Amino acid sequence: MTRKVAIYGKGGIGKSTTTQNTAAALAHFHDKKIFIHGCDPKADSTRLILGGKPQETLMDVLRDHGAEKVTNDMVIKVGYKDIRCVESGGPEPGVGCAGRGVITAIDLMEESGAYTDDLDFIFFDVLGDVVCGGFAMPIRDGKAEEVYIVASGEMMAVYAANNICKGLVKYAKQSGVRLGGIICNSRNVDGELELMQEFTAALGTRMIHFVPRDNVVQKAEFNKKTVTEFDPGENQAREYSELARKIIENEEFVIPKPLTMDQLENMVVKYGLAD
Ligand code: ADP
Ligand code: MG
Repeated sequence: MTRKVAIYGKGGIGKSTTTQNTAAALAHFHDKKIFIHGCDPKADSTRLILGGKPQETLMDVLRDHGAEKVTNDMVIKVGYKDIRCVESGGPEPGVGCAGRGVITAIDLMEESGAYTDDLDFIFFDVLGDVVCGGFAMPIRDGKAEEVYIVASGEMMAVYAANNICKGLVKYAKQSGVRLGGIICNSRNVDGELELMQEFTAALGTRMIHFVPRDNVVQKAEFNKKTVTEFDPGENQAREYSELARKIIENEEFVIPKPLTMDQLENMVVKYGLAD
């Protein structure tokens, strides 16, 4: 059984970093077969797996060659530990719906049989402060069954996570999608752990892992690698392996209860959150 997992969170929070590092840990430490499907028009969801090569996006290949000529080999690249990668891409900036590429790409991957049965996990790395248009597709149409939201103890990250939960609630009944937890990608702000615990409890979910902020992430990135590929002996590689293990063993899947504006504001005051 392939588990289909969507990673959501506000821009810049660390979705692509966390997705790729967790994927590498799943493959290296837990022997899992992984497919990463980048769903951010920024198209930087797969670089660390592919050794820094920017991947040509599916939308670009479609534009250049036309739908009839596109083959899986043209759009799927294989990287570290045989992790397979595709980037949706998007329309030219300012033209049309940015999420359009996500819909086209997922449809095409399904039709072409790219999501093979031997995969343990497919990760959709999805941009989303709010869940709308094409960015809702992974959770709207049952493409992904479980969602993890990357957040930190900063106000905007918490607001975004809450908004994503609202979107999730809207689609949960029809698509069966569930929240598997919040990944705290630490920004080292005061009271972060407590805030995350209170926030996730209020949502009716849990903080599945607290990923420390560590410069080795950037150091590995500078070397065009995930931390695990860069040095599997690093503490941070162990953190990603822990997160990977918790995802493998996870059995807590819920429909979240988004917080009201009052509840959110109380938390902002209590923890003195800055944006
Ligand atoms: P997103 O995909 O959500 O837009 P990214 O994954 O591109 O965000 O993360 C933005 C930057 O934050 C990355 O360049 C990465 O170096 C840094 N980063 C993310 N997580 C960590 C971490 N745990 N420790 C240190 N740096 C991190
Ligand atoms: Mg990203």
